[in-house]
Amino acid sequence: MLAVTLAGTAVIAACSVNPATGDRQFTGMLPMANEAAIGAQEHSKIQAQFGNFMTGPVADYVSSIGQKVAQNTERTDVQYRFYTIDSPIVNAFALPGGYIYISRGLLTLANSEAELAAVLGHEIGHVTGRHAAERMSKGTLAGLGTAVLGAAVGGGVAQAASVGANLYLSSYSRSQEHQSDELGVRYLARAGYNPQAMADFLSSLDAQSKLEAKAAGKKAGGANYFSTHPLTTDRVREARAEATKFPAINVENRARYLTQINGLTYGDSSSQGFTRDNRFYHPQMGFTFSYPNGAKVTNGTSQVAINHPNGTVIVFDAAKSSSDPMTFMTREWLKGQNTGTAEAINVNGNRGAMASFSGNVSGRAVTVRLVAVEWQPGQYFRFQMAIPKNVGSSFERELKDTAYSLRRMTSAEKNSVKPKRLIVLTAPAGSTVASMASKMAVDGNKQEYFLVLNGMNASEPVVAGQPYKIVIN
Ligand SMILES: [Zn+2]
Repeated sequence: MLAVTLAGTAVIAACSVNPATGDRQFTGMLPMANEAAIGAQEHSKIQAQFGNFMTGPVADYVSSIGQKVAQNTERTDVQYRFYTIDSPIVNAFALPGGYIYISRGLLTLANSEAELAAVLGHEIGHVTGRHAAERMSKGTLAGLGTAVLGAAVGGGVAQAASVGANLYLSSYSRSQEHQSDELGVRYLARAGYNPQAMADFLSSLDAQSKLEAKAAGKKAGGANYFSTHPLTTDRVREARAEATKFPAINVENRARYLTQINGLTYGDSSSQGFTRDNRFYHPQMGFTFSYPNGAKVTNGTSQVAINHPNGTVIVFDAAKSSSDPMTFMTREWLKGQNTGTAEAINVNGNRGAMASFSGNVSGRAVTVRLVAVEWQPGQYFRFQMAIPKNVGSSFERELKDTAYSLRRMTSAEKNSVKPKRLIVLTAPAGSTVASMASKMAVDGNKQEYFLVLNGMNASEPVVAGQPYKIVIN
């Protein structure tokens, strides 16, 4: 009987009119008072997943624009906090309680302060619209019914909330996206920016994701903007129409924005590791190794995957062990299997072990080669290679070179080998898209990347004397 009573109370108490949207909402499982607590709890998980947030002038600038937009919302009782994540993936997301995140990758894509304000306004819209709360309540009640009510009675709000916690970073509904775009346009206009900036940025996002899809296989899967904020073909058009409901304002602060992001890292950073001239460099951890010519490198959070067109796959990662290399290889990694082939090796002064044997990967006969190198006491770096049978002897030598190329970065390398950067260049007289794009340090599709990065369509000319973003080594 207690559960029934509680449920009845929740329905009456929580179905209220939202001040931002005017909607009647059922947010029974997440009363407003608990939003901040749940946000704080989820925030620590975000920090654990993405590492330290960026600090310094760019992060301060993002925060100042966020606060400016937040002052113009219906929910000024929320303490909004803005964090810049050091990730090359283009993304932004929000947690209940006013926690808002934007990635470095998204900052490199935006072209004005107004577009940055649009993204932050959209995320604020998810908070003021109470979308996470609404989604969580619907999900828990519809999906789990009385079990959740029972949990709420037995374990209280914390347990009920943990059921919904996984939903925060899953995608919003189409109607929630539409509503956040509308709210974002409203906040943009109120904050004194051109309300068309929302449609402009959505259009850039659309172009960027199409270009990424074209260069498919190059990037790790990972959650990008559209996996959390679904794009419908109508979204750009609807945002444009919505903006016409507000007085036209020309303020975009493009020059100021470009000055702020000038010099920002583009792609993987020193703390994530990056490739240059057929080598992988990890300046923060201080190591480098080479890989076979023509291979594609996917830099994940806990491993580096290298795929060669001939079917060879190499996975590089780290492991903890205080055993000597042969014991580590035979007892811990191979767990007593295939140990007859293991041999002790030395890789640039570091003790190691190698083992090769025939195996099967996804139904294909391959040679499996394992290499473990003791990097420092208690820590190993490892290569796992799956090599098709017919790759030839010169490629075999390249693989051997890969294993034996692992070494510490020199101090000269640490000073000279830097991640890619975005810089702002004033177009010289006579510049064209082709001439500007030729300066781009990207692998292929240079003109397309130049156009997408600068929010331009294919027929738009470069104007001499105007600032443009390019990517350099
Ligand atoms: Zn969204």
